Amino acid sequence: MVDTQLKGMGRTEIIDKAVLDAMLKVPRHLFVPEAVRNLAYRDAPVPVGYGQTISQPYIVALMTQALELKPGMKVLEIGTGSGYQAAIAAEVTPLVFTVEIIRPLYESAGSRLKNLGYLTVRTLEGDGYYGWPEFAPFDRIIVTCAALHVPPTLFDQLAPGGKMVIPVGGNFETQRLLLITKDENGGRRSETLSLVRFVPLIREIPRNR
Ligand code: SAH
Repeated sequence: MVDTQLKGMGRTEIIDKAVLDAMLKVPRHLFVPEAVRNLAYRDAPVPVGYGQTISQPYIVALMTQALELKPGMKVLEIGTGSGYQAAIAAEVTPLVFTVEIIRPLYESAGSRLKNLGYLTVRTLEGDGYYGWPEFAPFDRIIVTCAALHVPPTLFDQLAPGGKMVIPVGGNFETQRLLLITKDENGGRRSETLSLVRFVPLIREIPRNR
């Protein structure tokens, strides 16, 4: 996976050693349901239940590289899902906070991360649109579900000099993966990293689940 998918193939190459090391180390097959374990290392997202997916390895690496994570930084993730992205971030810095809206995913990711030794990752069940004010500000924010706009609460919870990676666009259509930077005066800059397809950021759980 690391040798073929992350080193080029016509896309922005993943060259950040910390990201490559993390992708080599985290056992991705333990983050997908047993029935689809054989698909864990393919160049695609994989279903993890409840209509959700673990992102494609390349996209995880691209987002993590864009954040320029350093040890000691405080990171907020919206959309825990399987916990894989949180584990990748935790390989670089222990201060990882992750929010998930679907209870069974929140529960299974929390126990998976503990069992695999990611003891410093803090998990929260809730609507990540509102971030995690108790632990703000964050040096980095990574949103792994597509929002219709950049949630103002998340930008507020970004530290000056901080960076956020977030897919923005409509549900089930191509979205833009944005890198947003907050300057020292609170000003905002935004650049598009890639076109992507993420599951939507949901605002309430549909009743028929
Ligand atoms: N980062 C995950 C993949 C995320 S898939 C991983 O590494 O496996 C997107 C996740 O975002 C899903 O688990 C979905 O339930 C969650 N999600 C969607 N809307 C959300 C919201 N408003 N707040 C928190 N999580 C949300």
